[in-house]
Amino acid sequence: MEADPADTESRRTLIGLGREALAAELTAFGLEPFRARQLWHWFYHRGATSFAAMTTLAKPVRERLAEAYVIRRPEVARDLRSDDGTRKWLLRMADGQEIETVHIPEEDRGALCVSSQVGCTLTCRFCHTGTQRLVRNLDAAEIVNQVLLARDALAEWPAPPDGRLLSNIVMMGMGEPLLNYEQVATALKIIMDGDGIAISKRRITLSTSGVVPVMKRCGEELGVNLAVSLHAVTDDVRDQLVPINRKYPLAELLAACRNYPGATNARRITFEYVMLRDVNDSPADARALVRLLKGIPAKINLIPFNPWPGAPYTCSTPEAIQTFGDIVNAAGYASPVRTPRGQDIMAACGQLKSASLRNRDAVARLLAEKDAALVA
Ligand code: SAH
Ligand code: SF4
Repeated sequence: MEADPADTESRRTLIGLGREALAAELTAFGLEPFRARQLWHWFYHRGATSFAAMTTLAKPVRERLAEAYVIRRPEVARDLRSDDGTRKWLLRMADGQEIETVHIPEEDRGALCVSSQVGCTLTCRFCHTGTQRLVRNLDAAEIVNQVLLARDALAEWPAPPDGRLLSNIVMMGMGEPLLNYEQVATALKIIMDGDGIAISKRRITLSTSGVVPVMKRCGEELGVNLAVSLHAVTDDVRDQLVPINRKYPLAELLAACRNYPGATNARRITFEYVMLRDVNDSPADARALVRLLKGIPAKINLIPFNPWPGAPYTCSTPEAIQTFGDIVNAAGYASPVRTPRGQDIMAACGQLKSASLRNRDAVARLLAEKDAALVA
């Protein structure tokens, strides 16, 4: 059998190394420190996909680099476009594992929904990603590469200062970003760097299901906007919907939100709340939510449940969502309903998953197995 070229590739990538790590790597390779700045510019400002294209470097330097290192975008296994303009890439990593990245265009901007893990070790009951068996962390290169690939596709090299199609990043794809904090942090620092991709931390939102011990660090070191997947107002219900609640219950989660560095009225924490019929969507739930969030600069994002094959829930009725939103709104919290985007290509919140598991019993069995591992 012929070997897959990826298996025999011995050249390493420089993408995903932070500024200092890149400088150290190049120094060890025998290049001067200013080369790191030049490469950074070509990688992250110009979007170069080969060393040969880096015309400000002398040819022998380019050749030496190309012998030792490689710039490789993930392989696009599928490229799907929704009727509403949303685009979803199924990306195949060097080891064959797959992840999804979604671009959600708006009128004068656009967000890229980036994955942090292959699958997710957590098992939120309403989330398709949680039903995926294979799980591993992405490394910083694989996270940054999602952004580079999207910029290639949107032809935004170098990116215009205004009106970018890729202006915002949401760490809301597959995986729990705070369970892969080091790699996510390295990647986000590269993405924010003003000499490169230059997406400001104010335009980056990280969503967590509530990994309480890492939240403070995330705020201090990265200063990105925080979104918290709340989804329930009592520990009983949240234990069921978001099983990590059994480890870090509501009181601890909300305390971490109160202490989140940088949360102010101008920079509110977003609380995500998936609307599940007859589970968490009553007027009493809405009133309890208001009480729970007292004193936290917050907005509440109501997310109509997006169905997937075998899912054990249905979406709340439009009337229930409206009533719920009105109660929260009357208490002074913005409570926009998140319009599902890209549903026709399974790109909406909670629909991402790179291999299908359609059978309801199989889903239930897998969730039970992963759940046992979480509590252990
Ligand atoms: N793991 C992180 C990041 C994923 S963000 C987190 O859970 O926060 C994706 C958002 O979509 C989360 O708020 C998640 O709870 C929500 N979600 C998951 N499944 C969903 C579904 N089927 N319908 C609507 N929202 C869903
Ligand atoms: Fe993981 Fe987030 Fe899905 Fe929960 S909602 S299973 S934390 S990706």
